Amino acid sequence: MANVNTDTYLENNKRYAKGEAIHKPVHPGKQPIAPARHVAVVACMDARIDVEDLLGLQTGDAHIIRNAGGVVTDDTIRCLIISHHLLNTNEIILIHHTRCGMLAFTDDLLKAGLEGDPAAEKLLGQATGRAFTSCKTAASTPTAFHAFRGALEPLDAPCDAKQKERLQWDVRRGLSAILSHPWIPTEGPDAVTVRGFIYDVDTGLLDEVSYPGPMGSIG
Ligand SMILES: [Zn+2]
Repeated sequence: MANVNTDTYLENNKRYAKGEAIHKPVHPGKQPIAPARHVAVVACMDARIDVEDLLGLQTGDAHIIRNAGGVVTDDTIRCLIISHHLLNTNEIILIHHTRCGMLAFTDDLLKAGLEGDPAAEKLLGQATGRAFTSCKTAASTPTAFHAFRGALEPLDAPCDAKQKERLQWDVRRGLSAILSHPWIPTEGPDAVTVRGFIYDVDTGLLDEVSYPGPMGSIG
């Protein structure tokens, strides 16, 4: 999908990766509530990512929705609907990233560990380098942790072809969930554009994910 603003952010991103500081870290004074650039960004909570910096956004330009993985969850969709229909955004940018922690566990593994399975506790301890301490109780929520599909890899493993494929799968799942939602219009006069990217935490660069395409395999 063509979108002039997203292409501008991609140019900003190249300058950021070279060391340029485009985001101005100053309070801009009184501003309108609606994002000035009509853009909503969904990104992982990873500590190495600063969304405003890497896209060259200023305070007041964008809605930034972050969670573990940059996953399109029920709450992400809630935010995007409010962002578009009430606060006039028309462009969505979805960002996953290399070395993401969501590649290093599965929902079942984390649940089993929290509920007291010694084997899961041991594996999670090895994966994270901290003593995983089980709560030894079951709980009905959260219903999902949204760990990424595919074979587990060590925490913070360097990005290889397999990791990139797993990240692409989840970006496409997110794009699909947004594009197919009945309350997020992607056609007609009120249409929203949606594009997905993988951010490389080592180089600072964004890489666009093609869509449509594979969304994962359990094999
Ligand atoms: Zn992450």
